[in-house]
Amino acid sequence: MLGQMQSQPLLISSLIDHAERHHGEGEIVSRRVEGDIHRSNWREVARRSRQVANALDGLGLPMGDRVATLAWNGYRHLELYFGVSGTGRVLHTLNPRLHPDQLVWIVNHAEDRALCFDMSFLPLVKAVAARCPTVKHWVALCDAAALPADSGIPGLLSYEAWIGAQPDTCTWPTFDENSASSMCYTSGTTGNPKAALYSHRSTLLHAFGAALPDAMSLSARDSVLPVVPMFHVNAWGIPYSAAATGCKLVFPGPALDGKSVYELIEAEKVSMAAGVPTVWQMLLGHLQAGGLKFSTLKRTVIGGSACPPAMINAFNDQYGVEVLHAWGMTEMSPLGTVCTLKNAQLSLPADERLKVRLKQGRAIFGVDMKIVDEAGEELPWDGKSYGDLLVRGPWIIASYFKGEGGDPLRDGWFPTGDVATIDADGFMQITDRSKDVIKSGGEWISSIDVENIAMAHPAVAMAACVGMRHPKWDERPIVVVVKKPGAEVTREELLAFYEGKIAKWQVPDDVVFVEAIPLGATGKMQKMTLRQQLQDYVLPGV
Ligand code: AMP
Repeated sequence: MLGQMQSQPLLISSLIDHAERHHGEGEIVSRRVEGDIHRSNWREVARRSRQVANALDGLGLPMGDRVATLAWNGYRHLELYFGVSGTGRVLHTLNPRLHPDQLVWIVNHAEDRALCFDMSFLPLVKAVAARCPTVKHWVALCDAAALPADSGIPGLLSYEAWIGAQPDTCTWPTFDENSASSMCYTSGTTGNPKAALYSHRSTLLHAFGAALPDAMSLSARDSVLPVVPMFHVNAWGIPYSAAATGCKLVFPGPALDGKSVYELIEAEKVSMAAGVPTVWQMLLGHLQAGGLKFSTLKRTVIGGSACPPAMINAFNDQYGVEVLHAWGMTEMSPLGTVCTLKNAQLSLPADERLKVRLKQGRAIFGVDMKIVDEAGEELPWDGKSYGDLLVRGPWIIASYFKGEGGDPLRDGWFPTGDVATIDADGFMQITDRSKDVIKSGGEWISSIDVENIAMAHPAVAMAACVGMRHPKWDERPIVVVVKKPGAEVTREELLAFYEGKIAKWQVPDDVVFVEAIPLGATGKMQKMTLRQQLQDYVLPGV
């Protein structure tokens, strides 16, 4: 017997319709490339996203065509999120931090038909345009007056003139909820990048899941600052969850330094902010240097890389801000787990609570996970056994765009490439990327553990632990360290700092001080590049 409820496809257009109707006055505040603060609201975003829809129709782009963006977090980018996907076209967010050659490769692979870019990326666009033959329409996200006369890009449109000429009414088309809505290329640390192609259905289900109280806990009472870029897995899906809940959105634009982010948090009464650890490092540095406090910030979602304990403590103890450690990946839309305590853990002593908070957290409903050994056998949830982490669920990838890389699934599960433990309460903890795991004398050493201890030293700004070939132990860990400006620590002092914190055999064999650790386009440490830089390095005593 079938249920007798209405059957409506889950479409992204319904999100913006809802936000307009029920949260029209909800604010959308953006620091613009132009330098000023721009104020809009959900009603205005909805109105202008319909103008985008009409403008795209005017270009004659059929459903399924890719419309790329090269843009910071801001209201125009938000309008494109809804205008492009709402009409059945596919929003392709490009990462401007990629090398131009890589961008060209991605644009051609995606066969983007239009590309909308912030004016700060004009030089980049000029450098790549001639090598992107599929792109027929170039749109600069500015008003007509800001458009350079001699851009060198044929037919360059100004976004404001382009959409301004359009009516602000339209009827969003209805189509299969499994249609593609947006796409995002993975960082591609091995081989060419591959794209995750999200659907309307996966995006809406993720929007529900991500907004849950034990996930990002978004509501109409929140003022949310996504520092995580809209070109990195759709800003962790926040734009969609925000439209569903009607929260205020505050966009930082290109200004991600500690001072700018702090000023925005205070001025816009931000209650929740989301980003990768490197951004929060800059923010905490600014607070500490100026003896500043937050007056409204309640929680930060931190993910993308492991959040060091020193950061959790600083936010919690010094600033009264709860850290929600989260884990996910491009292939997972991205949210998989968030670390929020269960009732029984609230009464644990502070150091025990911190141990739980350091974990990447519990699966949100919609994500199923398990850990397996090398033979694919499931491992127990005892908090000690570690193995390959596999996931499945309606917002997790089934195959890459154009079938690149073949079938990624193992018996219906997606192998994340992460190595993890899961405890009896269901809290998952990443010990490593499988390719970064250090094997010493047959035992695994977690590079994240080694890094976290170094990061807790007051003189350390950033630390990366990598394995070095060793004739007896196979591999031994070393820690590569960037010191904080003006701070001092010696190799011996740092190695002594490990005493009593981890087993003796897990303590790194050496400390290498460097000016900078290579970071990828999404702010993650590039250990492959680091290992290449260290190719002439020899372990002490070898
Ligand atoms: P990306 O697809 O670029 O977002 O990268 C996803 C990968 O980032 C994951 O597979 C993890 O290796 C890593 N990652 C994401 N969040 C965390 C976290 N909270 N702790 C440790 N690693 C993380």
